[in-house]
Amino acid sequence: MQELTHYINGEHVKGTSGRFSDVFNPATGEVQAKCPLASKEEMAQAVAVAAAAQPAWEKVNPQRRARVMMKFVDLLNRDMDKLAETLSREHGKTFPDAKGDIQRGLEVVEYCIGAPQLLKGEFTDSAGPGIDMYSMRQALGVTAGITPFNFPAMIPMWMFAPAIACGNAFILKPSERDPSVPLMLAELLEEAGLPKGIIQVVNGDKEAVDAILYDDTIQSVGFVGSTPIAEYIYGTGCAQGKRVQCFGGAKNHMIIMPDADLDQAADALIGAGYGAAGERCMAISVAVPVGKETADKLIEKLIPRVETLKVGPYTAGDDVDYGPVVTAAAKANIERLVQTGVDQGADLVVDGRDFSLQGYEDGFFVGPSLFDNVTTDMDIYKQEIFGPVLSTVRAETYEEALSYAMDHEYGNGTAIYTRDGDTARDFANRINIGMIGINVPIPVPLAYHTFGGWKKSAFGDLNQHGPDAFKFYTRTKTITSRWPSGIREGGEFNFKAMD
Ligand code: NAD
Repeated sequence: MQELTHYINGEHVKGTSGRFSDVFNPATGEVQAKCPLASKEEMAQAVAVAAAAQPAWEKVNPQRRARVMMKFVDLLNRDMDKLAETLSREHGKTFPDAKGDIQRGLEVVEYCIGAPQLLKGEFTDSAGPGIDMYSMRQALGVTAGITPFNFPAMIPMWMFAPAIACGNAFILKPSERDPSVPLMLAELLEEAGLPKGIIQVVNGDKEAVDAILYDDTIQSVGFVGSTPIAEYIYGTGCAQGKRVQCFGGAKNHMIIMPDADLDQAADALIGAGYGAAGERCMAISVAVPVGKETADKLIEKLIPRVETLKVGPYTAGDDVDYGPVVTAAAKANIERLVQTGVDQGADLVVDGRDFSLQGYEDGFFVGPSLFDNVTTDMDIYKQEIFGPVLSTVRAETYEEALSYAMDHEYGNGTAIYTRDGDTARDFANRINIGMIGINVPIPVPLAYHTFGGWKKSAFGDLNQHGPDAFKFYTRTKTITSRWPSGIREGGEFNFKAMD
């Protein structure tokens, strides 16, 4: 049994709390490693190291910091297969999907190579007589991030790449379910030239998170995970005077208009609903066909596609559409929710429960389920299932379909399938959701735009990556400067316009 470590001050350090959690291979159900769960003292040790290392890193000029990111990109590409294999083994997602997880993180690292440009301040010459005014963006100091299990490469990179490019030190508390890739990323960053102590990985659970939230040195906290924990971290972190951004759960609707290309919409729903076993915050979990004819045809097209999905271990290569879910508890929860759907009156047209794979009977596999005639009062509609389950809610009109997406408490992503530009434009303008796809099922913005939901899917003012990340990880300082020039104005007691 492998005992994983923390990564503190450039070294792999064994946990000293005596507490561990199991890391599974979800395809076999076996425990493959033990993850140390840090105590408050272990977190304090990492914070002290970060605080000592950060001032020198902030003084490294931004172009040199960018070069570390450049080299890091090379190393990510060099080790892509090794990283993806480790990721699949702990998370369960397919090998190509694991590479996508790394790739979408890598793209944010590439964006951060632009740090010298992104960190440039503003300057006004002659804002007043002999007066210049300028602003600069300065690093926060020691920053921290808490990440979920479902993107163990991408989301840590979305946080630490901009934080570090801005001159901060960063402490990562990754998910205890799949901590190996984050540890590998920290090693690679140092191989790329990052000084020790600027990136550290402290594994743990609530105790480590609370140690972050109540630490006076840590200036900012980024969180991605489920909404109840996002709310807790946002409230507690803000009350401690920190800068906090938290991204939570989702229930993403796709509206299918009668004029849509229904084969295209059905294919999109299959990928967006069942890819990564539905364990994506941008997964489509609700299909809303408009009109009875659209709904009937869509269900007819979906059933054979769902029934022929290939579920298996990542080791089966390209022959697999999606893998197991992350834990036995996640599997049990998904199957329990499917049962509530049946009990509450939805039509389970494809039942993915009782799925078993020869040779992998102990793996956490869940077959794909498809519901029709779901209503908004049902648990499968209200809750995030985070599994391979697609619910169909039928709407009579576009307005009714729109109201379902708008009235749901989550507002991460949504999509519309239509050939009508007017409808698409109306949808994009009126919807109260952060990321919109028009004939695009998973509208995850690219690195140079920003990522973030609305409503209960995000807490805080700034989004992830893109220009917002450079704002989140820096403070603005504005300087008004005049050098002795012989001008004598005498005392000035009122605000006045600059001459
Ligand atoms: P989670 O909330 O269980 O865990 C996320 C992190 O919080 C982990 O590091 C975990 O150790 C920590 N944590 C767990 N319980 C805690 C507690 N009581 N106190 C303090 N910290 C705690 O989420 P998960 O299961 O790892 O990830 C899935 C969730 O993440 C889904 O809800 C998904 O929608 C969401 N997610 C959202 C986005 C987004 O950008 N909006 C992206 C990916 C995932």
